[in-house]
Amino acid sequence: MASDPCMLCVPEIADREFDRVRLWEDELWRLSAVLRGPIPGFAHLEPRRHIPHITDLDGREAATFGPVLARVTRALRDATAAELTYAYVFGDHVAHLHVNLAPHRAGDALRGGPGLLEPDAADASPAEHAATADAVRALLGG
Ligand SMILES: [Zn+2]
Repeated sequence: MASDPCMLCVPEIADREFDRVRLWEDELWRLSAVLRGPIPGFAHLEPRRHIPHITDLDGREAATFGPVLARVTRALRDATAAELTYAYVFGDHVAHLHVNLAPHRAGDALRGGPGLLEPDAADASPAEHAATADAVRALLGG
């Protein structure tokens, strides 16, 4: 049985699924607005190439990610007169890297960072925080 095609490798599928329209693209990246939901200007930035997760980012996409992200988030902010553009990367549902971009103004429907947590989430212990910080620092050679 053939597996379903990746909806971001065949962007017409995602365009149909999310009512997307293309805002900009180059040879590496594609920016699309989602024309539904509470946030006008909500957009997906994704590489054309199948890169599953942000932890897989490499090559020319890795080299251009920062400048492209800065450029498109500024355009979304300025076009909507927003204060900020939020950027969220998940990857649990569609395993083709995409940054969810959401222009944000005070009082809109976006909840920001704390909104990403279960409201009744317990804090991790200080020891767990410290051990995790040590592990990451060791991996980065810092
Ligand atoms: Zn893909």
